[in-house]
Amino acid sequence: MKNRTLFIRWMVTAAALAAAAVFLISRPERDPSWEQPTMGTTAHITLSGPVHKKRLKQIQFAIDAALEDVNRQMSTWQDDTEISEFNRAKTAAVPVSPDFAAVVRRALDWSAATDGAFDPTVKPLVDHWGFGPQANSQTPEKILQFTGWKKLHVKNHALSKDDPRLQLDLSAIAKGYGVDRVADVIRNHGFRNFLVEIGGELVAEGTNPSGEHWRVGIESPEPDRAFGERLFRVAELSGKAMATSGDYRRFRTREDGTRYSHIINPKTGRPAETDIAAVSVLADSCMNADAVATALFVMGSEKALQWLESRPELQALFILHNPNGGDFISRLTPGFPSDQ
Ligand code: ADP
Ligand code: MG
Repeated sequence: MKNRTLFIRWMVTAAALAAAAVFLISRPERDPSWEQPTMGTTAHITLSGPVHKKRLKQIQFAIDAALEDVNRQMSTWQDDTEISEFNRAKTAAVPVSPDFAAVVRRALDWSAATDGAFDPTVKPLVDHWGFGPQANSQTPEKILQFTGWKKLHVKNHALSKDDPRLQLDLSAIAKGYGVDRVADVIRNHGFRNFLVEIGGELVAEGTNPSGEHWRVGIESPEPDRAFGERLFRVAELSGKAMATSGDYRRFRTREDGTRYSHIINPKTGRPAETDIAAVSVLADSCMNADAVATALFVMGSEKALQWLESRPELQALFILHNPNGGDFISRLTPGFPSDQ
């Protein structure tokens, strides 16, 4: 009898524990926020509101798959990617994934729209200046003979080049595209309030966990500062993508102490010499914001602001070096969110 009572007690306890475990597993997580390494940098993702753990796992799984996809197509830092295969190919057309072809098509659209300030064929120059995955000891003048976006073609889902030495570098647009892909995964799972950021490029949608628009910090472009250590401005965003290009994170220093950045002027074959320390661009997609930010950096602020006049769908904030030394100067297009 005593044994039986004990057994029943045990059963009740076990059932209670099981119920508690089920409750814990199925209890929604509030405002989940996490980071993960990707594309040589880190992704930060926040979803506002409650998300069931199982659903969160599904979303994270789908995000990993999307990012792996982009990497497998567009990373020049690995040999077994579609882009590396194309870079090794001669002039015959190389079939690629439809997504990859679409990004190259968009890259070429921006090359045309920016009169070649954005140019996805700069890879040998990027290598030459020490910012790429390979070395290239040819002179920039020599390399310029076979670079140029007009020598690259997309037809259906195949890429081809006019010169076998031409190589593709999508680094100035792929990160933004990766952010868009992650945002799409989150939207497709039914979420409307989230922030996705990869290495400074981001999409902010709906509201933050406090139910307000997202507030995004734009860093002061000083090389010695840690990420986000000092903010130049805070922008309130919702339903927008933002990307930033600058000379303060990836650069090299000459013997005379001057620095040159990883953004190349495709016309001169040399690092872009510009008055811009950083430019942040708002656009409908992060892929567009990313490509435009790089192009505006190459143009310099005068030309860039002129170029933006006929494109009200884009907004930009320029943080300029002060020719007299001293504090940065800022210039911005109408419509760029006011300082918060
Ligand atoms: P980040 O990668 O720091 O966000 P960008 O989006 O401006 O900066 O991309 C810069 C990268 O793009 C360079 O490291 C190089 O690989 C490539 N690149 C450099 N100059 C150009 C250019 N004029 N057009 C397109 N891609 C470029
Ligand atoms: Mg860019």
